Amino acid sequence: MDTNSFREEDFSSVPAAERALIERRQRLLGGAYRLFYRKPVHLVRGRGQYLWDAEGHRYLDVYNNVASIGHSHPHVIEAVTRQMSSLNTHTRYMHETILDYSERIMATMPSPVDRAMYMCTGSEANDLAVRVARLYTGGRGIIVTREAYHGTSELTSGLSPALGSGQRLSPEARTVAAPDPYRHGAEDLGHRFALELQAQIDDLRRAGVGFAAFLADSIFSSDGVLPNEPGMLREAIDLVHANGGIFIADEVQPGFARTGESFWGFQRHGLVPDLVTTGKPMGNGIPVSGLFGRNEVLQAFSDQVPYFNTFGGNPVAMAAAQAVLDVIEDEDLQRHAQEVGCRFLEALRGVAREHPDVVGDVRGAGLFVGFELVRDAESRQPDKSLALDLIEELRNRFVLTSVAGPFGNVLKLRPPLPFSAEDVMWVADALDESLTALGH
Ligand code: PMP
Repeated sequence: MDTNSFREEDFSSVPAAERALIERRQRLLGGAYRLFYRKPVHLVRGRGQYLWDAEGHRYLDVYNNVASIGHSHPHVIEAVTRQMSSLNTHTRYMHETILDYSERIMATMPSPVDRAMYMCTGSEANDLAVRVARLYTGGRGIIVTREAYHGTSELTSGLSPALGSGQRLSPEARTVAAPDPYRHGAEDLGHRFALELQAQIDDLRRAGVGFAAFLADSIFSSDGVLPNEPGMLREAIDLVHANGGIFIADEVQPGFARTGESFWGFQRHGLVPDLVTTGKPMGNGIPVSGLFGRNEVLQAFSDQVPYFNTFGGNPVAMAAAQAVLDVIEDEDLQRHAQEVGCRFLEALRGVAREHPDVVGDVRGAGLFVGFELVRDAESRQPDKSLALDLIEELRNRFVLTSVAGPFGNVLKLRPPLPFSAEDVMWVADALDESLTALGH
């Protein structure tokens, strides 16, 4: 998560106005914060898929999964303003909005999912999901992928190897490599992935830790964006169940229509999760997240532990979440993500053909694309330094994105869903020019 961070040695090349802001941050904010880019960007306004900096330059946002239906969407602003003007309170009083939303969102999920709980962040959703999984199964062991990110709490940061070696992994966690057809070969990948999962479940058992859950983002975004063939994960999830564990689908990244083929990432693989967690795109900027599951799975937790989250599921958050669903439907964003996503993949594959030595792989589902950079096509050795130079070049062409994956060499291209055919060309041209400028 630290890969594309501003570093002290870049300070001298930053313009004076930004330098003053950086110094002010350093004086006022905790040192753990990181800025993107060698030349950090100071944004003042957003609309749709575009952002403007303090000098009035327009940027194309190809990274933001928070403003998933577009920055400053008027329908969300209106819904939030209306609700905020009449009432905002918490879930210990009755209110219809949370119930209306629950009915609507659970109608998008497999029918066994019949209960909803709400919180404010993806971290809180995953934190609660793990606590629920442990009480339901009686086990404590959690398996995640090798470059997973699941949150910032004590519990979820211990399940987030993407935080780097400074963050200790929980002793009750095990990792598996995310299934990567480019690096591991496509043949039998689902089966090989299931076997690896079984080996880690066995390893937990040998250490005296019962297996509770496999917690995964089905598009493996921090692992380098690995959508895989639809259905690929089915064998692994059957195996999770056969071992008495549950599958927690972390939908913070692929959920809310982004993959185009389906509304949820797990649906692309034909899976029925035991628990679903959501976050960022759910409120398009308003902090709201959710945990969804079968009543039976939630029961042990519900019986033993009261749950109250002061801001979780408040009427304003629920109004924002409702408005997001309205827009996805009214603007037909799932179909749009699929159609423009196909064009995007095609255009980027065109760029790859122009630069075949360094673009190893282009893959994606809907508006979620990974663009992998290598030292040469034959060895497939990851080229992190090229990826980092490339995102700076793109930034200078007003295209914002970042990198992902265990080697930090995959561009994670994940624009707000209104991303258009012209935007596709903007990114493709900027990539082509940038790679050429970098000598490729
Ligand atoms: N899960 C995944 C897959 C994520 O990408 C993130 C955030 N990047 C989280 C959980 C945590 O969400 P939040 O930052 O809202 O706590």
